[in-house]
Amino acid sequence: MATAKKSDEQVVAIDGHRLTLTHLDKVLYPETGTTKAEVIGYYSAVAEAMLPHIRDRAATRKRWVNGVGTEKVPGLMFFQKDLDDSTPAWVKRRTIEHKDHDNEYPLVNDLATLTWLAQIAALEIHVPQWRFGPKGAKRNPDRIVLDLDPGPGAGLPECAEVARVVRVILQGMGLDPMPVTSGSKGIHLYAALDGAQTTEQVSAMAHELARSLEADHPELIVSDMKKSLRQGKVLLDWSQNNGSKTTVAPYSLRGQTHPMVAAPRTWKELESKTLAQLDFTQVMARVKKDGDIMGGIDRLRTYRSKRNATKTPEPVPAGRARPSKGQTFVIQEHHASHLHWDFRLEHDGVLVSWALPKGVPTDYQKNHLAVQTEDHPLEYGSFEGDIPKDEYGGGRVDIWDAGTYELEKWRDGEEVIATIHGTKHGTHRYALIYTGGEGKADKNWLIHLTKDQP
Ligand code: MN
Repeated sequence: MATAKKSDEQVVAIDGHRLTLTHLDKVLYPETGTTKAEVIGYYSAVAEAMLPHIRDRAATRKRWVNGVGTEKVPGLMFFQKDLDDSTPAWVKRRTIEHKDHDNEYPLVNDLATLTWLAQIAALEIHVPQWRFGPKGAKRNPDRIVLDLDPGPGAGLPECAEVARVVRVILQGMGLDPMPVTSGSKGIHLYAALDGAQTTEQVSAMAHELARSLEADHPELIVSDMKKSLRQGKVLLDWSQNNGSKTTVAPYSLRGQTHPMVAAPRTWKELESKTLAQLDFTQVMARVKKDGDIMGGIDRLRTYRSKRNATKTPEPVPAGRARPSKGQTFVIQEHHASHLHWDFRLEHDGVLVSWALPKGVPTDYQKNHLAVQTEDHPLEYGSFEGDIPKDEYGGGRVDIWDAGTYELEKWRDGEEVIATIHGTKHGTHRYALIYTGGEGKADKNWLIHLTKDQP
């Protein structure tokens, strides 16, 4: 892929984009001798784990173009929001209107963009807790973050203790938080949300949570940033759920004297007496071994939250979706309050689903509405049965067709082209195209029977 120019410079092709990497031997972390080449190597090694956490979010970059410097002489940092003219044309971008100006932000949705950010020494990538919709609308936040920041005399053990307390409360609210050691001093807790609440509602909830935890554990927790006296305590910072604020992204490097990383951790690790922050070589080794341990947290949460396993015959797996490479599909005829057909394609360990009020189109000149619904577990592909009337989706479900599919194109939230091979209704090539906008139409797609059929 790469063609050498000078020892210190390379032109690479990533995802079909040409990118010139320069000053590869430049030391960005003097205390460890870590070079820009190593930083680029790190981000490409963790890209698959990292990208799902940052895609479609407005990315703010903290850049250290001359390196992070040393403890005594820190390097100069640029905090960059707006894209400048040097940005490659292929970088996806979205605009946020502020009171007196607009900023154009990159969306870090692919390896090429992540590599470009490493090339410009954007060591830290910060993102908000909400995403852009396919047409640029701000969606409701899809996760909540709580930043546990130790005051003087407190450290990681105190943060881990607070994290456990917060976890119990969040679990009581039906949420499933995951810890990330920040790469600096503290711990970030993330929990996936179903997108039903606005930024303001999530912020208010986080604030209330922090206040009540402070009241219950005054010796350990403080929720007010202005309180300077927090000796031995942990600041439970809820404010990063504000829609205009950002948090350093999971897997981002930190611009400190050592190349530390905001690293997803297991709850078991948090129990350890030797819990410590991790650096980039440790995180690379972990990702190589286990992939993204934070992955799959959200994909089945909405599905699970809508169903009571004791009341519906539908499969309700307790665990997270695991990555899968299979390409199965199912179309289920569903006699719910409104008859529809559920069109589901296996992708990334779940059945990505659309409800088709008129079923699949049989005429290439007549597209049908396809409303995207929550991802379903793979087990759902063989489900037939009666969902009780009072439960979510109550009514009869039968498999109308099932089999495998060949994928031509999958652009999340935009376009899917696939040829399905059904055991009952044969082979058909369809395109699903996002048409949605604001409000309820946000989930609307159309399904098109292509003129050319295999
Ligand atoms: Mn349905």
